[in-house]
Amino acid sequence: MTTAQPLDVQPTPLALLLLGREADPKSERGVECPGDLPAPSAPDLVERARAAKEALGDKVFVLGHHYQRDEVIQFADVTGDSFKLAREAAARPGSEYIVFCGVHFMAESADILTADSQQVVLPDLAAGCSMADMATAEQVAECWDVLTDAGVAGSTVPVSYMNSSADIKAFTGRHGGTICTSSNAKRALDWAFGQGGPDTRVLFLPDQHLGRNTAVRDMGLSLDDCVVYNPHKPGGGLTAEELRAAKMILWRGHCSVHGRFSLESVRDVRERIPGVNVLVHPECKHEVVSAADQVGSTEHIIRTLENAPAGSKWAIGTELNLVRRLANRFAAEDKEVVFLDKTVCFCSTMNRIDLPHLVWALESLVDGKVVNRIQVEPETEKYAKLALERMLALP
Ligand code: SF4
Repeated sequence: MTTAQPLDVQPTPLALLLLGREADPKSERGVECPGDLPAPSAPDLVERARAAKEALGDKVFVLGHHYQRDEVIQFADVTGDSFKLAREAAARPGSEYIVFCGVHFMAESADILTADSQQVVLPDLAAGCSMADMATAEQVAECWDVLTDAGVAGSTVPVSYMNSSADIKAFTGRHGGTICTSSNAKRALDWAFGQGGPDTRVLFLPDQHLGRNTAVRDMGLSLDDCVVYNPHKPGGGLTAEELRAAKMILWRGHCSVHGRFSLESVRDVRERIPGVNVLVHPECKHEVVSAADQVGSTEHIIRTLENAPAGSKWAIGTELNLVRRLANRFAAEDKEVVFLDKTVCFCSTMNRIDLPHLVWALESLVDGKVVNRIQVEPETEKYAKLALERMLALP
């Protein structure tokens, strides 16, 4: 669990922000930003961000996730996926403030991996992640009770995707599991299956697609080895026999952005662009991943395009801000990069971080006020860190 502290690091009762539904203050979907934000139309926002950053100098380090808007990413000291950014934050002990242009669970991970003296700021508290919200601490504790009743908890190792709350990471650490990213999911599963005997199984949280794709594509398991635990059904909607027979118990969560890509998107782009290579993120559905030419994390996607020959054509299945930037960057090298789907597919919560919020966060720091600090509670941090360190120690 984290506490998000607005102005002057004073705990403040947080009003709820409606992002399509009533928000839970503990939810990744966040809360209202109480700051005095500059108008989005203010003509001097770029200048103000630049001036504030210059005034702060080495005291501030700005991290930008690949899915951030261009207007924000231009101010990032480093760009990357969630894991790379958390490590970059940890590697900057001299920076007093880490401004995380990403979403809530990423800022939590940065807080866990940085020194206590460093303060992590999320420019808009409403920048959450719908996937992380799909597994709450209460639901996961209930699931563990179900596994215990079925007699399989003792032989189950939790593996949680980086895209989860600090509470879920702490659950994972407490129960002998590890965190994984889309880059190292196979290594994490290899490690987890090596923790016990032949009846060892994995509880994979919260993204069923990454879990299934890794198990079936990379580990040689079959779809029948996987069952889906639905937290909204009694007993997860599974019988004790099904739980005992499963090698992978997949949490019923998904990314609302990558979940939009379909088999039809793949067929359609192959018709429209003969010779196109389809390259998708492993958060996509299994049928999409199976129909693609290549699968990989955002870092893998970028590297693949960097190494691709001139004249090659690529349809990319990941968030649109990144795909647009890649299309612009590689057009100069005569590589055609298009978005896999026909319709818009931004991550709406990533897009919450905009220039007005960034300017407000930076100017507040210049004035000596730490706004929107993300701070993980010590007990949660202890076990979440344990799970993260197991990941860092993976071969
Ligand atoms: S792209 Fe998907 S997993 Fe990533 S922050 Fe957005 S909703 Fe969450």
